[in-house]
Amino acid sequence: MRIGHGIDVHRVSDDPSRVLRLALVEIPGAPGLVGHSDADAATHALCDALLGAANLGDLGRHFPDDDPSLAGVSSRRLLEETLLLVRSAGFGVTSADITIIAEQPKLAPYMPAMSQELTLVVGTTVSVKATTTEGLGALGRVEGVGATAVVLLEEIQ
Ligand SMILES: [Zn+2]
Repeated sequence: MRIGHGIDVHRVSDDPSRVLRLALVEIPGAPGLVGHSDADAATHALCDALLGAANLGDLGRHFPDDDPSLAGVSSRRLLEETLLLVRSAGFGVTSADITIIAEQPKLAPYMPAMSQELTLVVGTTVSVKATTTEGLGALGRVEGVGATAVVLLEEIQ
């Protein structure tokens, strides 16, 4: 078994054309996040945890944010490609747990859909939870949205 941990934070965008997408699910009516990709912090944290558990470095190493071909790339694609890398390294995903840190919007109504979407792509149950920082710090001032993830990988026989 290998354990991996990931963390990601994206700034809230003042560009009204940016869409907020977290854990592959679009959240209507909320400001989007700044990023070279779709800025899905939850999926990025999951990808980093997967890569870390397989000792494959981090998301930025495989998908550089100065690569023009990746501009606007969906995090679904990043996750799919990350899973291919992890499987090529000889691992399957046993367990994954994500915590999204966001003061706003309230994410509780979206948790089941987020878990369902990620579970479909990963092929094992992905738990998605959310918390706030009780108004403290940059995330508490709604300047950004963060996420952490842990995963367990198992060597494929
Ligand atoms: Zn990110």
